[in-house]
Amino acid sequence: MRGAGAWLLLLLLGLGCQPAHAQWLERTVDGIMGTRIVVKLWAEDQAAGEAAIDAVMADMRHVDETMSTFKPTSEVSKVNAQAADGPVPISPELYSLLSTALEYSRITEGAFDITYASVGYMYDFRAHVRPSEQQILAALPAVNYRHLLLDPKQHTVRFTQRGVRIDLGGIAKGWAVDRGIEILKARGFTHALVNAGGDSRVIGDRMGEPWVIGISDPNHPERFFTRIPLSDTAYSTSGDYERYYDENGVRYHHIIDPHTGHSASKVRSATVIAPTATRTDGLSKTAFVLGPEAALRIYSTLPDVEAILVTPDGRVLYSKGLEPAPGAH
Ligand code: ADP
Ligand code: MG
Repeated sequence: MRGAGAWLLLLLLGLGCQPAHAQWLERTVDGIMGTRIVVKLWAEDQAAGEAAIDAVMADMRHVDETMSTFKPTSEVSKVNAQAADGPVPISPELYSLLSTALEYSRITEGAFDITYASVGYMYDFRAHVRPSEQQILAALPAVNYRHLLLDPKQHTVRFTQRGVRIDLGGIAKGWAVDRGIEILKARGFTHALVNAGGDSRVIGDRMGEPWVIGISDPNHPERFFTRIPLSDTAYSTSGDYERYYDENGVRYHHIIDPHTGHSASKVRSATVIAPTATRTDGLSKTAFVLGPEAALRIYSTLPDVEAILVTPDGRVLYSKGLEPAPGAH
C-alpha cells in the first residue's frame, strides 16, 4: 500500500512538472465589424495562445473603430463628412487601405468600388429598405472610384465632388484577417485560422491534415456542395444569401453594381482563393458585377488567384487551376 501511495504521489508531482500540453484553442466573438470573428490556433502554451487571441480580437476592434461607417466617430466617417470640402489628412493605415482598394478597382475593371456607398448607404437590407429609382439616378454620378484622390506626399484624401461616400465593408474584413495572421506569426504560431464573416486565412495545416473549406449551395447555405483542402492560403466567399431580402420575386442583397446602383446578380456566389485575405476580399465581388466569364478572364491573368463561381442557373464554374480532372466526380 505504501508503495502504491508513493507511486501515486510521484505521478502527481510528475504531472505538475510537465510543461502545459500543446492543444488547439478556439474562440468565437460576435459583433465586431458587424460579423462573427473566429480564431483557432495550435498552442504549445495555453496562456500564450489565449494572449495571442486577445491581441487579434483587440486589433479587430481597432479596425472596426477606425473603418466603420456605422460609427460616426470613425476615421472613415470623418472622411465621408469632410473630403468633398478639401483634402483630409488620414492615418497611414487608412491611406494604405484606400490605395489597396483603388488597386482592386483597377484590377476588377471597376466592379470593386468603395464609392458604391454613394448609393449603397440608402439600402438597409435588415429593414427591407431600398432607394427609389429616382434616388438611385440622382446619386449614381457620385459612384466612381476615380472621384477619390489620394495625395501620397500629404497623406490626404479628397473627393472630387459632393455626394461621394466610401464604405470599406467589401475589403476591411479581409484586411483585418491578414493583420490577425501577422500578429499570430509574429508570436511564433505556425498553425492557425482567422475568420471574419466571409473572409478567412490559414497558416500551416491542421497538424498533418489540410484545412478544409466548404462551398455552400446558395439555395441551402448550410449545405456544402463541395469541399476543398487547403493550407497556407486565404479565401473569401461572397453570396447573395448573406444579407438580403426578397420582394415580389426579386432578391435585394448587399453587393451593389457600381454602374446601376442595384444589387449585382450575375452570379449567386463566388469563392476566391489567393495568398492574402485582402486580395480574396477585394476580388470576390467581381463576378456578381461583371458576370462569370469576365471575372474568370480577369482571374486567369492573376497567377496566384483561383475561384469557384455558382451561376443563377446553378452551374458551378472553376478557374483553370481548380478544374476537376476529366472524368472526376
Ligand atoms: P462580407 O461582408 O461577408 O465579407 P463580401 O465580402 O461579399 O461580404 O462584401 C460585401 C460588402 O461589400 C457589402 O456589405 C458592402 O459593404 C460592400 N460592397 C457592396 N458592393 C460593393 C462593390 N461593388 N464594391 C466594393 N464593395 C462593395
Ligand atoms: Mg468579405
